[in-house]
Amino acid sequence: MARYTGESCRVCRREGEKLFLKGSRCYTDKCAITRRAYAPGQHGQKRKKQSEYGMQLREKQKAKSFYGVLESQFRKYFEEASRRKGVTGTNLLQILESRLDNVVYRLGFATSRAQARQLVRHGHFTVNGVKVNIPSYLTKVGDEIKVKEASANNEIFKQIVEENEKGRPVPAWLESNLAGRTGKIVAVPAREEIDLPVQEHLIVELYSK
Ligand code: SF4
Repeated sequence: MARYTGESCRVCRREGEKLFLKGSRCYTDKCAITRRAYAPGQHGQKRKKQSEYGMQLREKQKAKSFYGVLESQFRKYFEEASRRKGVTGTNLLQILESRLDNVVYRLGFATSRAQARQLVRHGHFTVNGVKVNIPSYLTKVGDEIKVKEASANNEIFKQIVEENEKGRPVPAWLESNLAGRTGKIVAVPAREEIDLPVQEHLIVELYSK
């Protein structure tokens, strides 16, 4: 299935949650969830009773939209999460969090995951000194992420850093030096440090059928 290219706010309204898909707008009163907290479309305001399968599906769609991941890749992450020791749902979220595009966003070098994906693809970052332009690259504890020297003073990074310095907090499992354009992964995120509003056990149930 192709990537959804429609209006991002519709996705949030469909899921009934803020998924922070649009950068700085998501943190203002202009957020569509704040203004119209019901599903889009003609029947959006009607209450619908959801089946168990429907709930499981919605949770999976929510997680995929949040991280901008397609079905085939999401399923691979689930398989990898099942192979790892520990709780499969938590493993799945930890894998998703370790994607380079997500780490770049969390460090404050992009205003949304979509922007982070684009910046990574355009080759603006290095991991441990090596250029990486694959948004799905899985980082690990100890990795150092840097904006490439040639890009560090680009207008785009100046604007992003200025915006993020004012507000969005960096999670405790990351160390960010926005002025120095560097960041480091210092730990694996605990479940409570991952702000995805999802019941991951429903995703596990869905894939375990
Ligand atoms: Fe739109 Fe962002 Fe609000 Fe979602 S969180 S509805 S993407 S403004």
